[in-house]
Amino acid sequence: MSKPHKNADKIRCDACPVMCYIADGRSGACDRYANEAGQLVRLDPLVILDRRLSDGGDVVPFLDEGSDWDGDILYAEDSFVTAIGAGTTYPDYKPAPFIVSREVDGADMVTVVTEGIFSYCGVKVKIDTDRHLGPERNLVRSQGEPVGHVTTGEYGSQMLSLGGVNHLTGGGKKEGRLTCKTLLDLCNGEAVELTIDDGSTVIVEAGKAPIVNGVTEERMRVGCGSATVGMFASQWKGLVDEVVVVDDHITGVMSEHQAGKVIGWPATGIKVKGRRSTPGRYFQVAEPGTGWGGTDVDDPLTILDAFDPAVARPGQSLLMVSTTGEQFAYFELDEDLVPQAKDMPERLMGSVARIEENCEPALCTVLFMGGAGGSLRAGVTENPVKLTRSVKQLLTNVTCGGAPCYVWPGGGITVMVDVTKMPENSFGHVPTPAIVAPIEFTLNRQDYEALGGHMGHVTPIEDAMDGMTGPQNDHILRGQKPVSQNRANPWPTEARRAVPVEQTVKSGRKSE
Ligand code: SF4
Repeated sequence: MSKPHKNADKIRCDACPVMCYIADGRSGACDRYANEAGQLVRLDPLVILDRRLSDGGDVVPFLDEGSDWDGDILYAEDSFVTAIGAGTTYPDYKPAPFIVSREVDGADMVTVVTEGIFSYCGVKVKIDTDRHLGPERNLVRSQGEPVGHVTTGEYGSQMLSLGGVNHLTGGGKKEGRLTCKTLLDLCNGEAVELTIDDGSTVIVEAGKAPIVNGVTEERMRVGCGSATVGMFASQWKGLVDEVVVVDDHITGVMSEHQAGKVIGWPATGIKVKGRRSTPGRYFQVAEPGTGWGGTDVDDPLTILDAFDPAVARPGQSLLMVSTTGEQFAYFELDEDLVPQAKDMPERLMGSVARIEENCEPALCTVLFMGGAGGSLRAGVTENPVKLTRSVKQLLTNVTCGGAPCYVWPGGGITVMVDVTKMPENSFGHVPTPAIVAPIEFTLNRQDYEALGGHMGHVTPIEDAMDGMTGPQNDHILRGQKPVSQNRANPWPTEARRAVPVEQTVKSGRKSE
């Protein structure tokens, strides 16, 4: 048990390495803890998921704080104590702030709850846009400071990798501070403006459309140019002589493409610049940019060479369209076999609209990525490696604020979570700098005991919901906030409860 150290009228918070001395009535450097009449108080309420609620509830003071709340709002069987507002195990010698027990369909379950301090964490950002944001590997900046880099683009989305040890702790003080702020804002659903060296400015907000160079992106492309030709080949047959789907990745040409060949599309004598990969599929028709199909092209004819006079004929029609259907143009060859722009015929409008219809809304996705394989495991078990093994053997379910996590294979407990599946404002920070993120480990009580869990600190969930804290806690809680569970998430205690110990032994999945 640890008590806050006192210095005159100040108390010392040891919930992170900053070790603030906090005067009465003041809060510490992170605004997460305060000194209230000599007691260290965690200022944000403890968030409790309630699967019966349709919306977030109000903050409810605990009974021992003089509330007239009658306790009927929350029921243990429909509630899950998250780590949001719980406090941390730092400096890691003590058990987690809450280790709660409950019965779930006849099985005794334990959930270990703590706010982890992540000094090396980061976010992966997926931005649904064809537009070129910047060259791969180039720096991403916030307010001029490098906070990450452009990484491998994935299937019509641009990807950013932000944060991590090199920016949080390996650069200058300002770089670390702005990296931390950028991660915090992104994880808490704020809009963040990022600039990319030799590239664009993009405003990223989790779950919202990206804004690239001031233009809100509306659609994610239906596929690459080749895929688009394949998808709509039969719908264009008989309506137009040639279709070119302009795309920075693979530009598709109907008459040459296998999709056109199998439905008997005649040759047109078209010639496309760029590097021909396979019939009807062209790479590098232009430079990357924010024009047609993620190229730098504003006039699509610039990607064409002269038509072959042995094949092409005057009057031949040509549709050029981008992979989102946002840009399109119609041409007919004149007597010299030069394409001349014409009004888009009504017969082709439906096919362009079909491309747009098949595009999904463009969004920004923010995945928080942190490593729980370090010292915070000591808050769960006396033998930390056993927690790692238990997670890998699927005996322990890891959640962040009650939201499901993807746990990476290999060493450590490296988790990734979609921040939009977590309750609002789940994240905090400390000025070391580091991000504070909630993490919960749920497992069968017997398995918890077997991995060396802190059994003497297990508290019934009802007590935790009444505001009781364990003997390991050196702070009191401000109150609790019931929050509705995200309907897309599985209930956090249901993922692992059905694995009886005998079965795990038989299947060789027992943790020890
Ligand atoms: S920064 Fe916050 S958590 Fe860290 S010691 Fe100060 S008050 Fe405590």
